[in-house]
Amino acid sequence: MIPLPRFELHSPKTLAEAIAALAHSNGGANILAGGTDLIANIKHGVAKPERVVWLGKLPEMRAISFTPELGLRIGAMCTLNEIAASSSVQQYYPAIAEAANSVASPAIRNCATLGGNLCQDTRCFYYNQSEFWRSALGGCIKARILPASNGAICHATPGLAKCAAVFCSDLAPLLIALSASVKLMNQRGERTIDLAELYRDDGANHLTLQPGEIVTEVSIPTAEPNQFSVYKKLRDRRSIDFALVNVGLNIVLDSELTCRHAKIVIGAVQSIPVEIQTAEAIFVNHRLTTELIGRVAEEAASAVTPVPNVDEPVGYRKRMVRVLVERALSEIWSRASKKSTS
Ligand SMILES: Cc1cc2nc3c(=O)[nH]c(=O)nc-3n(C[C@H](O)[C@H](O)[C@H](O)COP(=O)(O)OP(=O)(O)OC[C@H]3O[C@@H](n4cnc5c(N)ncnc54)[C@H](O)[C@@H]3O)c2cc1C
Ligand code: SF4
Repeated sequence: MIPLPRFELHSPKTLAEAIAALAHSNGGANILAGGTDLIANIKHGVAKPERVVWLGKLPEMRAISFTPELGLRIGAMCTLNEIAASSSVQQYYPAIAEAANSVASPAIRNCATLGGNLCQDTRCFYYNQSEFWRSALGGCIKARILPASNGAICHATPGLAKCAAVFCSDLAPLLIALSASVKLMNQRGERTIDLAELYRDDGANHLTLQPGEIVTEVSIPTAEPNQFSVYKKLRDRRSIDFALVNVGLNIVLDSELTCRHAKIVIGAVQSIPVEIQTAEAIFVNHRLTTELIGRVAEEAASAVTPVPNVDEPVGYRKRMVRVLVERALSEIWSRASKKSTS
């Protein structure tokens, strides 16, 4: 068993106390939610906080509500099991329940939260190792948080001047496809941004959060009558595994099965979820057919370049982007056809 190093633990009872604990930490604090990502990272020495602020005693961050006017609102401290079991989620956004249920294992989903899932660290098999293992390689850009110009290198993509560790969240691609937004709070106030804006393409610093900022709530707009969303995930073991590729897809069709709006987001291939606008453009204003599905899936696969730092070869993961997009669109086609004939 790897022991935990010492740190100062805060358990605030209000959001204001949590914000103050983060604000007065000189940047050396980490937020702790379910701990399923952070605690392993602390044990492996890839996170070294002086202070940890646990949000588990804040009931205001654990609500799930749905109204047609405001859509779905999920508190960032809701666990993935609570989200998957929510009647509002199952009735109006079943793909979110599917994505939540695909994370890790039932025991992990009992404590893993939505906020933690969206803010989890990026992953790379040259980095998510013990300190001893990493030191044998002499570190890398992310391990030393140094630019390549200071002598640090990337073992996964030698020659690249930044870290390409992969962001494997199961919820983020689908929620971006659903145009979700996140509410953020720190001592300077509150702001709301599109979820897509929470991420930047730098595996060593992939979140755009300001110092001390907490994700408090995620909002998803009300679904349109002919809206269809699907989540697909490739992983080595169904019982428990991170995504090797995942796809979040949201489409609005008219009664003739012509696409009026499409968002296709691919995850686990880069440091951010990637929206494939060229594939969406092929789709919009065209009728869903098998030929069109093939073209859209082909474009999605050709637009992404997976990084060789998780299991399975890059070529296989790239081909599986095509397969997953094709499966997702075929499922939508079959659901939409049944709906239009019923
Ligand atoms: C064996 C195993 C398998 C896993 N498989 C998967 C998988 O298949 N798919 C997947 O997506 N993940 C997987 N994970 C990662 C992790 O379990 C999940 O992403 C989980 O949802 C993280 O949530 P948490 O509440 O435990 O986060 P924590 O570990 O508490 O936090 C994770 C990070 O997010 C930050 N954070 C947490 N909450 C907030 C907030 N409200 N505002 C701002 N920052 C915040 C923390 O500071 C920390 O940096 C796996 C983990 C393990 C150990
Ligand atoms: S992608 Fe490169 S820089 Fe980033 S963690 Fe992996 S080896 Fe290090």
